[in-house]
Amino acid sequence: MAIFALILCVSCNQKNKIEVAEDESIVYFCKEITPENILKLYEALGVKQEGKIGLKVHFGEEGNQNYLNPELLRPLVEKVHPTFVETNVLYVSKRRFTDSHIALAKEHGFTFAPIDILDADAEVEFPAEGLKHFSKVKGGSHFNDYDAYIVYSHFKGHVSSGFGGAIKNVSMGFASPGGKMAMHASAYPACGDVSACTKCNRCAQQCPAGAITITENGPVIDSSKCIGCAKCIAECSLGIFNSGEKANTDVFLERLVEYAKVFCEKKPMVFINVMDNISKLCDCSSKAPAPFMEKIGAVASTDIVAIDMVCHQLTALKQKTEDAFLDVNGISGMGQIEYACKLGLGHKKYVLVDVTTGKRITLEEALR
Ligand code: SF4
Ligand code: SF4
Repeated sequence: MAIFALILCVSCNQKNKIEVAEDESIVYFCKEITPENILKLYEALGVKQEGKIGLKVHFGEEGNQNYLNPELLRPLVEKVHPTFVETNVLYVSKRRFTDSHIALAKEHGFTFAPIDILDADAEVEFPAEGLKHFSKVKGGSHFNDYDAYIVYSHFKGHVSSGFGGAIKNVSMGFASPGGKMAMHASAYPACGDVSACTKCNRCAQQCPAGAITITENGPVIDSSKCIGCAKCIAECSLGIFNSGEKANTDVFLERLVEYAKVFCEKKPMVFINVMDNISKLCDCSSKAPAPFMEKIGAVASTDIVAIDMVCHQLTALKQKTEDAFLDVNGISGMGQIEYACKLGLGHKKYVLVDVTTGKRITLEEALR
């Protein structure tokens, strides 16, 4: 059954009637990536978010040159008064610890809203039902402090998931380091080359489960005690610990989607994706390769699946190929979209609407 949506044309202030099928979602598009248009995209969604709003961003790894300019968010921040939110990462980086993570965010220009690292105080577990890989997911304890989220994602390549868009920003982006490890690899860490261990004992002191013993030969993990929090990986600056055996790509993509589903069900979220500085690697790379395609524009939707699907198709069309990220990374991000549809996160069918005219447009028109 078709339904009709009334879409406002911001130029002439008239409402256009657009037919949307039950299995379709609306995705708004703008070609010019400007601060004003990012706000316009958000407003076009017509969602009234109240209370404490978290704006999920990526601050960019130290040395990364492709992360999105925070100034694009200034009008949105002035309007909504959100808090920039992020979580600490798993690997050796300034983004591994809260203080240096916030300092880096400020260095990168995220100075005009408060910053909250959601797992700064503790990791919490959220129960998950009916999923293939998880019966719980791990996030930061501050996640519950917010009433709603705006998920602002840089759509670009990713070495393990083909592309990274809204789904990945929610799943990996809201997960604590323990959650990140559970998606990437096994649920428990492993010790790599222990010969460099200085026996400083920091990992054992920080392990909340008392699972690490420092022996003459370096650290030993008691897997019967380990709770998979990944603190040891973060704590050892020599990189002695790693996240264990890597999950294969299909499993990794499914795990990503399952995490996204749990977080999306916990709090109301809307999504904005920006297609600019599109490199084959993500903003966690300290030396990301230069962008391999020209900027395309920005999109917004209330549907996490439809928004990533539009970006996938626009980037493919721009490159005149079936899958731009399969070409450069050897992995198709479509695995995320298909599994997300299967779990009922959203629709891969969409109606693309020009945010300025309020009229339906084709992918080809968007690229013109
Ligand atoms: S923190 Fe690293 S160097 Fe220190 S004892 Fe643990 S494994 Fe060894
Ligand atoms: S993952 Fe957490 S519980 Fe397990 S050994 Fe490392 S610090 Fe300890």
